[in-house]
Amino acid sequence: MVELDQISTPQYKRCARCKQLKLLMEYWSDKNTQDGFCRQCKGCLTEYWKSAKGREINKRATKKYAQSAKGILCSARFRASDKRKEYLKNYTQSGRLAIKEKERYHRIQDEYGWHSHIDSWYPAARFLEGLQTATIVEIKV
Ligand SMILES: [Zn+2]
Repeated sequence: MVELDQISTPQYKRCARCKQLKLLMEYWSDKNTQDGFCRQCKGCLTEYWKSAKGREINKRATKKYAQSAKGILCSARFRASDKRKEYLKNYTQSGRLAIKEKERYHRIQDEYGWHSHIDSWYPAARFLEGLQTATIVEIKV
């Protein structure tokens, strides 16, 4: 009976960062904490991983994992799977698309000059944002 009550009662937790009371479904699970959920809510963590510090830490952790026994085993398994073929196919396709867009952009640039029609290129800039950050820096000049 007690167990049933616990299941049916919505459980809340206060986020360590934004200090808001949120439902447990707003938190990712974390084996290392006492209650099994992250200390920060999903929104706060997403923001953190997007920040420069978060990205740096994430990069380091990914590298460390890739060098560990578990990581090596996991990548070996991935290399032997069909998932890899699918990934490569998608990767090549999006890569090609990005190159095509970039070529198009440079062609227009040659024709009209650096600063003209920048506004009309905004959608293309937005499109490239997800694919190539370096290009965006050029467009914003
Ligand atoms: Zn939060």
